[in-house]
Amino acid sequence: MTTTLLRRSFFRRAAKAVAHAGDQVRPPKRGLVILAYHRVGGRTPVEVDLPTGLFEEQMAALARTKSVLRLDDAVARLARGEDLTGRVVVTFDDGTADFESDALPVLECYHLPATLYVATDFVDQNRPFPDDGKPLSWAALADCVATGLVDVGSHTHTHVLLDRVTTAEAIDELERSIDLINTNLQLDADHFAYPKAVAPSAPVEEVVRDRFVTAALAGTRPNPAGRTDLHRLSRSPVQVADGMRYFEQKVSGGMRLEDDLRRLLNRRRYAGLRR
Ligand SMILES: [Zn+2]
Repeated sequence: MTTTLLRRSFFRRAAKAVAHAGDQVRPPKRGLVILAYHRVGGRTPVEVDLPTGLFEEQMAALARTKSVLRLDDAVARLARGEDLTGRVVVTFDDGTADFESDALPVLECYHLPATLYVATDFVDQNRPFPDDGKPLSWAALADCVATGLVDVGSHTHTHVLLDRVTTAEAIDELERSIDLINTNLQLDADHFAYPKAVAPSAPVEEVVRDRFVTAALAGTRPNPAGRTDLHRLSRSPVQVADGMRYFEQKVSGGMRLEDDLRRLLNRRRYAGLRR
């Protein structure tokens, strides 16, 4: 591992321990938890590429508690002011091929629904994602949808960070992704997830509010009844280093401090980046 990777790995583990301790001092609030996954299969050293065994163990735990809701169902109930403490939504970002080959068989085995937010240019052009991410094809995505368990949302077209583009560029990014999902899967992309959970500029956020039923950021905290902005849904990203211990803590709505620390780090990491 390079020094940078080692430093990041140390920081991540320290942040998890601090966040876990923080939950003991200030217990997690009530509300719906939305988990954010990226990859399954453990093919790469990236922090969000979970070994299949760990992912399966996590899904088995969720299946035992019968806690998983479909995103559409969860947000409709949230909008009605229902307290969804103890309930969980499973989401995935990007649209890499391991979703079909590794994640979906596990979801099918436990009959768990999930929402996949797709950056459509990678799928449409068969363009690899960073870190050896092989993209899904439209045919594979259609197969995923045909299981009846998978909803497809937008994650922009080229995975652009929406705080650093013009409003016109943002509109183009969103409309292309909506159109491609509609043309290739005959689906409306009602849901959106901001790439790298970077909050947009105010005018771009207006565009997102106009085009989607929901939009998701990070936050690693539950979405409370009655006070949740459906266009700023909080998600809890799951990483390899969570194992089962911190995963269970995230499912309980905890680990908020990890997100606060991550945001501090990412402000430096993503400075100057566009995607
Ligand atoms: Zn992404």
